Amino acid sequence: MFTERFRSHHDAEHGLEVLLGKPKGHVQRLLSMKPWSAVEAKLRNPPSGKARGIYIHVPHCDTLCRFCNLNRKERKGADMDAYTGYIIKEINAYGAYPYIREQAFNAVYFGGGTPTVLSTAQLSRILEALHEHIPLAEDCEITVESTQHNLGTEKAAALAAKGVNRFSIGIQTFSDRGRKVLGRTYSGEKALEDLCALRTAFKGTLGIDIIYSYPDQSIEELARDGEICVSSGVDSVSFYSLMIHQGSALAASIDRGETRFVRDIQWDRERHHRFYTGLVESGFTLLELSKLVRPGKDAYQYIHIQYEKGDLLPIGSGAGGRIGGLPIYSMAPGRRFVSSGNEAYDRYYRLLGELQFGLYDPVRLARFLGPAVEKGISEKIQELSGLGYLVPIPQSSAWSLSPDGVFWGNNIAVEVLKAAIAAKQGALANV
Ligand code: SF4
Repeated sequence: MFTERFRSHHDAEHGLEVLLGKPKGHVQRLLSMKPWSAVEAKLRNPPSGKARGIYIHVPHCDTLCRFCNLNRKERKGADMDAYTGYIIKEINAYGAYPYIREQAFNAVYFGGGTPTVLSTAQLSRILEALHEHIPLAEDCEITVESTQHNLGTEKAAALAAKGVNRFSIGIQTFSDRGRKVLGRTYSGEKALEDLCALRTAFKGTLGIDIIYSYPDQSIEELARDGEICVSSGVDSVSFYSLMIHQGSALAASIDRGETRFVRDIQWDRERHHRFYTGLVESGFTLLELSKLVRPGKDAYQYIHIQYEKGDLLPIGSGAGGRIGGLPIYSMAPGRRFVSSGNEAYDRYYRLLGELQFGLYDPVRLARFLGPAVEKGISEKIQELSGLGYLVPIPQSSAWSLSPDGVFWGNNIAVEVLKAAIAAKQGALANV
């Protein structure tokens, strides 16, 4: 049914934007810009009562990985003390508003870049400011992303003492050859040794990122990565098929013919299935399309807030978030883009977010757009089930994804959205 794979949630979001005829993100932002005073008006009012989080962005990395085009830059020469001060100033400023103080936050996420390029002392100061100025729920999930070389067991223990209870470590592969292709520091052996040390020392939630389908990846390399995910005792694994982003060093190397990269759907699918089924057979379950968890070990509250379009305070240069329904992009001290938001579009994005979790229940899915779309969604689910992508869950009105369904998960989500939009339009036309 599908010929080109949407590899990420962002690909599916783009598919949705096309379906809605919506202007591209940056055009949309420019068309609907609002002054910061619109956010301040929200901040002076009571909170909505919905789950809420904080996203803190640290765009610096020691070295840039060859495949990466995230919002990051080399740390070289950056004044990290000044950056720490900027983040703390933003935390303090937000903390003064009633909207912030009157409801506890459920998740804090330090992303990047590599947040742990900040020293233990710098990160501790930020965490202290958070505890002092922002009400955090008792079970607040506090995640820090890191590369391995920026996070030893001592630093992890010091951050855990300040409330960090979840680490997300970018490993990508334990294969020496693969690490070289992807531009990772360390050997695979050292990566494994450090991961095991961290697992032993840190009692909170530990997740890692793995990339599959990188140039010339053998099934043996892939199988070994899967076995280590199981044996190392990590709680969750985010697994991504390598994306070649224009502008990355790897894309340039492929273009110049220095790196050979031949990948077709079957080759990618074989690697996906091998990795996915290996972990599922070892007790992992699907949390979202690109994340497998040991049951009960990683709630990942942050992603729920993000997909539900809940409030996320954006802090730091390059942080995106939203307050009271207004999307905000923080660029630098004193420079932020605010757009007006669109409740009608948000319903479709929330439906797309729900579909990331891989559970297809027409009644539940219809609640985002109203009962009139339930039949259209239900018929599409039946069709996708007939094609082997969805499997009915016994004694339930819901379907789960087959391994092929997980592989095509973002394409399937867009198909269901297409059916929902058609049903919604049909219902409106009949009014
Ligand atoms: S993958 Fe992570 S560590 Fe590597 S350049 Fe990108 S943000 Fe930095």
